Amino acid sequence: MIKNIARFPLAMLPTPMHALTGLSRQTGIEIFIKRDDLTGLAMGGNKTRKLEYLIQDALARQADTLITAGAAQSNHCRQTAAAAIKAGLACELVLAGEQNSRNGNVLLDTLLGAKIHWTTRDERQQRMQSVAKDIEQRGHVPYVIPVGGSNAVGALGYVNAVIELEQQCQSISWWPTHVVLATSSGGTMAGLVAGKKLTGFPAEIVGISIDKGFDEFPIFENEMAEIALAAAKEIGLDSSFRGDDFNVIREYLGSGYGIVGPEERNAIYKVARSDAILLDPVYTGKAMHGLLALIKNGFFDPDDRILFWHTGGEASLFGYETELIPDK
Ligand SMILES: *Cc1c(COP(=O)(O)O)cnc(C)c1O
Repeated sequence: MIKNIARFPLAMLPTPMHALTGLSRQTGIEIFIKRDDLTGLAMGGNKTRKLEYLIQDALARQADTLITAGAAQSNHCRQTAAAAIKAGLACELVLAGEQNSRNGNVLLDTLLGAKIHWTTRDERQQRMQSVAKDIEQRGHVPYVIPVGGSNAVGALGYVNAVIELEQQCQSISWWPTHVVLATSSGGTMAGLVAGKKLTGFPAEIVGISIDKGFDEFPIFENEMAEIALAAAKEIGLDSSFRGDDFNVIREYLGSGYGIVGPEERNAIYKVARSDAILLDPVYTGKAMHGLLALIKNGFFDPDDRILFWHTGGEASLFGYETELIPDK
């Protein structure tokens, strides 16, 4: 754990890490998995670790209402709604896009009592600000969490995660050469890269972009470097970060954010049937498609050891039944 910064406990840590024996056999390369789908907060996921620091900050600022935004099937919004309950705060969510299914995370947001504001992707930032203003006018104190919880405070959760991972690797004497994860708003990868610098963790961190295309190179990498730098500052780590510190792979976007095509579907089916691991349609399914393609294309040496970071999201499987069970 990072010693000098308090966190509001939400996650059941450490999350398990174990071999994917079936997939390792099928691919001929050693693959382990880090189970952040099991962080334990209302179906888990990577946002729980970020929220431990964000909630601590919200409470320190005397806030009484959390506001955040995401897509209709946002795992971040669902975990924020759950975290708000644990911390005794209200929660208002700005959800963008089509309310094409009320199942999955939308159902859970509702069960968890969050107030939902529907908007479009282009208008969600503005809408968060107007929701915050309304809350203020009602005499309350809002705390706006950026999309994905990706800022310096949130990224601390993944600096911590590297410290946790290092201890786990130590205890089983197994060290990955590569850590592979789905990257989107960038806070998770920024925290991991900062944590790697802090601990000297030996693996290369490989982010598979699930939404940022080549048109956002190197903007996205530079944004993550900024988050990593600010997170490092928070913990007094004197270090610099550049876009070059971030290895982001952009070839496996498929048809784009949240769209499940045959590649994502095949990856989800493959790992369900090799190891009984459920991936999600938006993030980990795409990232696993990317990992399998990288293995096939010779990106790795046969004696490399891969750690796939499961960042959660299975709740959204239930919002994607038509894409996941195609007619033929
Ligand atoms: C948010 C999310 C990610 C991406 O994390 P970022 O920090 O936004 O890059 C990956 N997987 C799942 C399941 C998520 O919900």
